[in-house]
Amino acid sequence: MNNHHRQTAPFVFFSILFLLHPSHAQPHPHTVCIIGSGIGGASVAHFLRLYSDDPQSIGQITIFERNGVVGGRMATVTIAGETFEAGGSILHPKNYHASNYTDYLNLQVKKPNHADDSLSLGIWDGHKFIYRTLNSNSKLPIIQRFVSIANSIKLLVRYGVFSLLRMDSFVEVMLNKFLRYYEGFEARPVFESVEGMLKWAGLYNLTTRTLGDELVEAGLSSLLIQELVTVITRINYGQSVNMSGLAGAVSLAGSGGGLWSVEGGNWQMAAGLINRSDVDLHLQEEIESISYMGDFYELNSTKGKSYSCQVTVVATPLDELDILFNPRISIPPRKLQHTHATFVRGLLNPGYFGLKVLSDIPELVGTIESDDLPFSSISILKQHEKDMTYKIFSREPMTDALLDDIFSSRVETIKINWGAYPHYEAPERYAPFILDNNHLYYVNAFENAASSMETSAVSAENIARLILSRLPDKVDKNSPNLKSGDSSDMHSEL
Ligand SMILES: Cc1cc2nc3c(=O)[nH]c(=O)nc-3n(C[C@H](O)[C@H](O)[C@H](O)COP(=O)(O)OP(=O)(O)OC[C@H]3O[C@@H](n4cnc5c(N)ncnc54)[C@H](O)[C@@H]3O)c2cc1C
Repeated sequence: MNNHHRQTAPFVFFSILFLLHPSHAQPHPHTVCIIGSGIGGASVAHFLRLYSDDPQSIGQITIFERNGVVGGRMATVTIAGETFEAGGSILHPKNYHASNYTDYLNLQVKKPNHADDSLSLGIWDGHKFIYRTLNSNSKLPIIQRFVSIANSIKLLVRYGVFSLLRMDSFVEVMLNKFLRYYEGFEARPVFESVEGMLKWAGLYNLTTRTLGDELVEAGLSSLLIQELVTVITRINYGQSVNMSGLAGAVSLAGSGGGLWSVEGGNWQMAAGLINRSDVDLHLQEEIESISYMGDFYELNSTKGKSYSCQVTVVATPLDELDILFNPRISIPPRKLQHTHATFVRGLLNPGYFGLKVLSDIPELVGTIESDDLPFSSISILKQHEKDMTYKIFSREPMTDALLDDIFSSRVETIKINWGAYPHYEAPERYAPFILDNNHLYYVNAFENAASSMETSAVSAENIARLILSRLPDKVDKNSPNLKSGDSSDMHSEL
């Protein structure tokens, strides 16, 4: 053997070994396509980047959005030059993903215009106010405090101290169970089904019975259920206490103290997460078909374009969409509850409510279940010098003739018809997180449990973990590709 051969032989030998050894084989990063740029789709992209150490595991992430803007049901409306939340508006103090996003993206927290207990409330039955809090126009803190105490007494007298305490505790118990979804990876498994996810936290049973049944069993008075609780479920989900218990409890949590939103619009959470997650964003591009081709999916869009993705995530409710799946997928039928949000700049007509002066109309008019009630709620979004901006929620569209009855003057009116959230039923049935046993995932399967910005983020975080744990070249779920994280290190990692 000459000198040249003595030098090259070991090199060739080690090169062959290098090529044969699986750990040195260069895996191709996986392309991920996400349909929908709401908080669900944006959160999947964010958590995929956050939890994957290995740049070879997740490659290009593409988000398709049929609208011209991101955010989905987090959207704003501009009326008479001022901007308000039109869809998802309030966040709970324990919505920790939303709160982490706000910090991470340097967004500002906005508190409601009113101190929590200073908003006057009236419950309207279509003919009269069956309950109303006292209203003080005084700016003096002492008077406001006095009115607030008087209102608390009024509430306790009508609905009973114990009933109100039991309602509070019903919500607290649910919230504490929900907090388990922020536990670290060591304590919290990756969930392959919504049922498994709910059972693990102890929340599943709440979805098998109606809110009404749950609250009767919890010992609430029927007056409290028919009035105050109904007002809240009609405002937050446009539905009665026949909705499932978990969605009902989430709705009640959304009427507590410390609520907040993002200054300038909640949609900025989705926009910020997408901006910071190295995403290829395709706006105004609707996906119309998803076909499994063996080891990748072919997505076709209304622009006549085709995309290949190894992993595909559906981050929008499928109920009113006609995306063609090949092969077909099977999910339980689900109806969406349509909520008509009508925004009016003008002045309410006190006569409609049997009142003489405008200031007698409560700032929040809630309603009970009754066939002849044309709206679920009317609330003041802002008091201007001479008039106000109001938001009306209704199950049916508000006709102009009806609006002319309810309002004495209208400067501008904007109507939005939302396919807002599932129409909840008990017992609930769930679509799978994994739609085809391969790599087609569905974030909004969790919406049957409860629909909110935070629950979408919670579901998306689990989907990101599920994707990483099931990547084709994955051996086990403790693979280094899945970075450990828990709620305590969220702030620093984010
Ligand atoms: C009136 C109203 C009030 C609400 N109030 C609250 C509240 O106070 N607090 C709260 O937490 N939640 C509230 N919610 C619920 C909350 O807004 C939603 O649960 C949450 O925003 C859902 O986010 P998502 O990302 O899962 O879905 P979405 O926000 O619906 O995002 C899905 C996106 O997918 C896009 N898309 C759909 N099909 C396609 C396709 N084929 N190709 C490409 N893109 C597609 C859609 O355009 C949309 O942008 C409210 C909702 C409504 C409507």
